Amino acid sequence: MEAGFLPRAAFQRLLDALHEAGYRCIGPQLRDNAVVYDTLARVGQLPQGVRDRQTPGSYRIEKTDQPRFFAWANGPQALKPFLFAPREPLWRSQRAADNAIRFAEVSPPPEPLAVIGVRACDLSALRLQDRHFLEGNFADSRYAARRENLFLVAVHCSHPADTCFCASTGDGPRAEQGFDLALNELDDGYLVQTGSDRGRGIAAQLPLSPATDAQRRLADSEIGNAAQQQTRHLPSRNLRDALFASLAHPRWEEVGGRCLSCGNCTSVCPTCFCHSEADETALDGGHSIHARQWDSCFTQGHSYIHGMTLRSETRMRYRQWLTHKLGSWHEQYGRSGCVGCGRCIAWCPVGIDITEEAVAICGGEANG
Ligand code: SF4
Ligand code: SF4
Repeated sequence: MEAGFLPRAAFQRLLDALHEAGYRCIGPQLRDNAVVYDTLARVGQLPQGVRDRQTPGSYRIEKTDQPRFFAWANGPQALKPFLFAPREPLWRSQRAADNAIRFAEVSPPPEPLAVIGVRACDLSALRLQDRHFLEGNFADSRYAARRENLFLVAVHCSHPADTCFCASTGDGPRAEQGFDLALNELDDGYLVQTGSDRGRGIAAQLPLSPATDAQRRLADSEIGNAAQQQTRHLPSRNLRDALFASLAHPRWEEVGGRCLSCGNCTSVCPTCFCHSEADETALDGGHSIHARQWDSCFTQGHSYIHGMTLRSETRMRYRQWLTHKLGSWHEQYGRSGCVGCGRCIAWCPVGIDITEEAVAICGGEANG
């Protein structure tokens, strides 16, 4: 529901209202030549005038004198690290004076977080992570507690990267649902839309004026242009049958020869959820910590089972990733595991492009 127009000069009021409601704000900031999420206290920390250039294996930042805060496509992070922590202790053991070992769950209280600047593709990825972590037979209590305390301020995309293809997967560039507030950024301010009671409560505290038809038309045309500008696409939204009919395709060998098995693609992917568990024991044997950490289907250990590694070669691991992500996810979650964010293309050190590989293996039209 449209709430009104917020001038850019009043953006700090949004941060203040969220702080007063008890949230720590997380927002995009320029660090190490990338737009990353970090704690956001002041509007001056936002990446004003920053533009990005993303191509296979490359991410570059440019600074302009433009007034906008959100005129860039996603950086390397998604919402994933805020809900599914890269590494966290699950339980600890302690040896007591009587030599008995006692176990205790480690479960820090979740902190209310408000994330500013979330894009449509990442809202879709969040819905997929919800399916995995909340709606299976074993809901993840840590994820659930963090999810409950998450406030989302989406920004509809108007400046997609060359690597984006959310229009092809049906996940953007407009944020359709799953947000508390959504913003259309214009040169002089923001069209504010509410998506929840919590969002309406925050919007009611902002100095909003009624939006004009000209502002609405401009906002719609910017989103439409963002979809039109995307040149990458997948051959179809459901490649399950095509992929499983191509398990012996020579392209697996070719892409396996280029892939470094580094796992960058799975780290930056907002939907990947694989993890491993590891124990850290104190040298004196007094205590230990059992932790969960992100893993990747590209590591050798990921497919180690019963004394052997099932996917010993890189081509097998790439095939596992692609056939799961674009194929068997349909059986598990009712849709593909790709939301078209393009991160795996930009952050792959050798520039492997999931859209090119899908066309090479499944057929269909190459990128335009
Ligand atoms: S597979 Fe690549 S493009 Fe698709 S959601 Fe994951 S990182 Fe984004
Ligand atoms: S596809 Fe690219 S990012 Fe993924 S493991 Fe291979 S080299 Fe690394």
